[in-house]
Amino acid sequence: MTLVLDSSALFSMENLPEEDSVCPPGVVRELTKYKDPRLELWGDMLRTSDCSSEAMKKVEEAARKTGDLGRLSPVDMSVIALALDVDGTVLSDDFSILNVCTVMGIPNRSVGTKGIKKVEKWNYQCIGCKKWYKERSNECPICGSPMKSFRKK
Ligand SMILES: [Zn+2]
Repeated sequence: MTLVLDSSALFSMENLPEEDSVCPPGVVRELTKYKDPRLELWGDMLRTSDCSSEAMKKVEEAARKTGDLGRLSPVDMSVIALALDVDGTVLSDDFSILNVCTVMGIPNRSVGTKGIKKVEKWNYQCIGCKKWYKERSNECPICGSPMKSFRKK
C-alpha cells in the first residue's frame, strides 16, 4: 500500500511513515515555503510524483459536487488525484480532503484526528499562533503559518 501525504499530514508528523509514501511536488513546495525544519531531516526520503490531469479533473468534479471545491487548494486536490493514480491511501488531517476521498471511494486516513463520518461545519485554526478562523485562507493573516481544518463541535 502506498500512502499519499498532504501538507497537513506532514506538518503533524514527527517522522515519515514506515509505509511506502509519496506526495505531490506542491506539498514539498509548501513545506519549503514555511521553512519547515523537518524537510532537511527527511530530504530525499520524501518521494514526490505528479498526478495526471485526468485524475485532477475527476477530483475537481467530485469536490464540486460535495461543496468542498472552495476549501481545497490545487495542491490539496493534487494529493487526492495522485492517490487515484497510484491506487494509494490518502493520509491527511484536512476534513475536505478526507471527505472528497470518501465520496470518491479512495481509502483515507487521518493523522492526528479520528477521521470523519459526516462533514457538517468547518473551522480553521492556524497551526502557528493557534488562532481560530471561520474562513480558510492560505496563510494566517497574523503570523503567516498554514491553517488546519477542524469540524465545528
Ligand atoms: Zn497564526
